[in-house]
Amino acid sequence: MPNKTLSRFTTSICTAIGVGFLFTACAHKPNPWRTVREPLKQKAQVYGTVNAGCLVGAESLIEMPTLEGENAQGSNLPKFEVMRPSRNRFFAHPSLVAYVTALSEKVYRKTKKYLLIGDLAQPRGGPMGDRGAPTAHSSHQTGLDVDVWFESSKYRLALEERENRRARDLVNEDHESMSSYWNLKYQSMVLKTAANFETVDRIFVNPAIKRELCIHSRKSGVRADRENAWLAKVRPWWGHKDHFHVRLKCPLGNAECVPVGDPIPAGDGCDETLNWWFSDEAKQLIAERAATPPEFKMPELPAACEQVLPLLTHH
Ligand SMILES: [Zn+2]
Repeated sequence: MPNKTLSRFTTSICTAIGVGFLFTACAHKPNPWRTVREPLKQKAQVYGTVNAGCLVGAESLIEMPTLEGENAQGSNLPKFEVMRPSRNRFFAHPSLVAYVTALSEKVYRKTKKYLLIGDLAQPRGGPMGDRGAPTAHSSHQTGLDVDVWFESSKYRLALEERENRRARDLVNEDHESMSSYWNLKYQSMVLKTAANFETVDRIFVNPAIKRELCIHSRKSGVRADRENAWLAKVRPWWGHKDHFHVRLKCPLGNAECVPVGDPIPAGDGCDETLNWWFSDEAKQLIAERAATPPEFKMPELPAACEQVLPLLTHH
């Protein structure tokens, strides 16, 4: 695939309008990936990376009747609830839909609770950000990322609650101590179950949560790498106090999918790389990021994404 990028489309549209009298209209062209309502119906294929990519053949995690609040009591429904459905970010590669379904089934069998599922991807993936869109992620672009709330629900949620419920932080404002919502037994069970799927590449949680898991692992005397392989996949990252983020590996048969991130180092990650997150340097960076969240910048997408979003070309 030639190495051209989508950015030439955005600039050419902008220049064309710019020479006319509508210059202000071009000053900011909204990100079109945010407004596509439907997936492109093809065999599922991921293009690019989670941070600069797109997706065809996405599946919806929820059926439309559920979205409208019908069937809410159906016993055959999957054992999860999709939160903030109005965002239209419940699309994913079929392997991720299968993962979320299977994970929530396992958790339900152990706890009789429904997992609460946050953002997956837009119908055709692509960047979610835009100017003035502070809830955007930089990843989640290829249907291989999912946010799962740390809290779950004993009952099915009505649409209104799925839209409006606020997630609770497990870690306090000091970024070190655990809040009253932290429940070691439940969270370690869920994270271990989530990480133990072969298809999972890694899971991001707040560093304080990883540290609690490490302390517990040491106390319970687990040493064998084999038994702790799941813990290695759970990685400390910015934020992630109220949800964990699961990233799947590039699915088989998706030759255009490009993995990101260094390979996970040997060991369980309960080491000096984790301790760094509690250093003065890290605390300074956390404060800076909170004060000035990173600006959205349109990534350079693979050329194949031009066909995935024909909207850009129909001018
Ligand atoms: Zn996420």
